[in-house]
Amino acid sequence: VNLFFRPIDKITSVLESYPKGIAGFRRFTELIDTRPDIADRPNARELGDVKGEIAYNNIRFGYGNDRLFDDLSFEIKAGETVAFVGPSGAGKTTLCSLLPRFYELDGGTITIDGVDIRDVTQQSLRAQIGIVAQDVFLFGGTIRENIAYGKLDASDDEIMEALKRAALNTYVLSLPEGLDTVVGERGVKLSGGQKQRLAIARIFLKNPPILVLDEATSALDTATEVAIQNALNELSKGRTTLVVAHRLATIRNADRIMVVSNNRIIEQGSHEELLAKKGAYAELHFAQFGTG
Ligand code: ATP
Repeated sequence: VNLFFRPIDKITSVLESYPKGIAGFRRFTELIDTRPDIADRPNARELGDVKGEIAYNNIRFGYGNDRLFDDLSFEIKAGETVAFVGPSGAGKTTLCSLLPRFYELDGGTITIDGVDIRDVTQQSLRAQIGIVAQDVFLFGGTIRENIAYGKLDASDDEIMEALKRAALNTYVLSLPEGLDTVVGERGVKLSGGQKQRLAIARIFLKNPPILVLDEATSALDTATEVAIQNALNELSKGRTTLVVAHRLATIRNADRIMVVSNNRIIEQGSHEELLAKKGAYAELHFAQFGTG
């Protein structure tokens, strides 16, 4: 289930009636960065640039009365790539969406470089995290505006460089209006793969130390798939990366795999370690991919 943009769905209808132009755009970025249902603490401070060391400490969380996690703890080193795998509904996406504080914990803490995420402003927290969701959210502006959302004062050179690293520059240059091309309902329709690359370009530009990736389950054509996979590998380099993994290549390349099941992390280790263990991961792996 793709959760990342669910709360944003609620505000898209509001957005359509927003004034166009840069004022509307600014307002939009404020909206997207701040959820109305979670308030900053009165004395919340700015997070500042982090290394990206993450710790979940005895967290408790449930959406309603049902408890999804109870006393769950793990740590992720700065620069490490962790792949979350497990049965559908186990809570992989939920675990990842707690980091940008899209939902409030019922207990325990999550820290980044030792700082409790509830002690800092949501805006400064999310400035440190790049998110690639399954459904990429674009607004009805130009390609430039959609990418510069990650960095409002970016120059065209910086934007083109980000597009290049996301393997989308050739396409954008082929458009008569280039970066000024309007996308979305009233403009050029981008394919699923192009939208994903646009989201990736956004993050290259924003350059955050932490990356959260909800890997697409829907199949793209092979060439697009390879381009996106390469761009994502590049993007995760040197960043702490949490990925809800559905692809074998991603899982194999992860520094560590965490198997989420029955409200817990039941196994963790590298692909080889977990296969050798012949436990839950091995079973899941053979069921899903049918190969070693
Ligand atoms: P999948 O692999 O299918 O994406 P997942 O392991 O990522 O699954 P989550 O999407 O985190 O699992 O969902 C965990 C549980 O929480 C599921 O039972 C789901 O129905 C429930 N859930 C997810 N989002 C919400 C929400 N916004 N409100 C209420 N329940 C939710």
